[in-house]
Amino acid sequence: MITINQYKDRGRCFVASVPIKAGTVIVRELPIIQTVNYMDPLQNAFCHQCLTYHHQHQQHSSPLLHCSKCKLVWYCNRDCASKDADQHELECPSYSRLHSTNLFDNDCKTMMKMLIKIIVYNHLKQQQQQQQQQGVESTTTTTTTSIDSFNIKTILELEGNRSQFPTQRLLGLSKIAKFIEKGLISTKKELMNGFDQQKLINIMCILECNTHELAFTIPTIKEKYSSSSSLSTQLESMSIQETTTTTTTTSTVKQVQKEEIKITYNYKSIGSGLYDQCSYFNHSCQPNIFKVNQTPGGELVMVALRDIEQGEELFYNYIQISMSGEARIKKLKESYFFNCQCPGCKNAPSHKQFLDKYLCKVKQCNGVITPLSNLCNICKPYLIDNDNKES
Ligand SMILES: [Zn+2]
Ligand SMILES: [Zn+2]
Ligand SMILES: [Zn+2]
Ligand SMILES: [Zn+2]
Repeated sequence: MITINQYKDRGRCFVASVPIKAGTVIVRELPIIQTVNYMDPLQNAFCHQCLTYHHQHQQHSSPLLHCSKCKLVWYCNRDCASKDADQHELECPSYSRLHSTNLFDNDCKTMMKMLIKIIVYNHLKQQQQQQQQQGVESTTTTTTTSIDSFNIKTILELEGNRSQFPTQRLLGLSKIAKFIEKGLISTKKELMNGFDQQKLINIMCILECNTHELAFTIPTIKEKYSSSSSLSTQLESMSIQETTTTTTTTSTVKQVQKEEIKITYNYKSIGSGLYDQCSYFNHSCQPNIFKVNQTPGGELVMVALRDIEQGEELFYNYIQISMSGEARIKKLKESYFFNCQCPGCKNAPSHKQFLDKYLCKVKQCNGVITPLSNLCNICKPYLIDNDNKES
């Protein structure tokens, strides 16, 4: 459906090799590496191994397992914890160091978690390869499928734009590299084999330019009487009254509980993921595809926003398309080091038309809507699997 084209000035990009209908799933890809945000209020609701979301109000669900040493990772159960055991044993001391320093902000610490994970994965991969060469059965007790597919080369081949980073920013990255190197060496010297501070800085540049936010539309159960509108205040007094007067009969109590609970959907960023193929899509403020993150697993799915002609390049938006032209150009220059040449940046009225057609009308949502399905990739959960079954 898509082919890779190589441009001299812009590097690799994806082009439609056949006409593509709006709503078609173009790529689905699991992350090379993913991490849950450092100290996010939701981090204890996600399994850090399989990225399954556990609703706090869910009945029958047992509390997540928690690493008592670093206090930074949670798991669904023993199964998920043991799948991550080899990796986490090596990253845990560095995570603890992260937790106890105030040299870096939370966003920076999320990136550092990812970098530590990359180094640990690379070490385990090397170990696995050595054992295979020597014909030794693996000494690891767990099935490490994520290690099997891990390849540091895939990451190093991504564009990091290091030469364009401001000096001040590079100085900051060098401070991070020193901190991480020190921690990993004190855990196990061999972890840093094949890495020096310069290579760590290169990888951080790559992470800054290529990681995708892992954001999910999460159902939140709200109790009706928590709302402040006058109607719900009435309902509140009613339901409280009902609850107090009907506690004796189980059936009525059930009904009352049902009335009190309302599910709303919230789009929340819970971490970051680095992907291989999905890193080669370029940006446009007038995208023709949009992305959806899937839980569990953090799969990234790219979907056609509108009908796409054969030979058209595929673009999604790296930043919010509803920002002003000036703000978009500034943000893209600062974060991704290019001058946006998209139709929306060249012609403001055409961008307004685009927003009228595709931008979600829900206030502050900033999602995009496929006119065909009327589903938003942010506020109305886009169920990719159901979509696939239909076709
Ligand atoms: Zn730990
Ligand atoms: Zn899990
Ligand atoms: Zn633009
Ligand atoms: Zn929306």
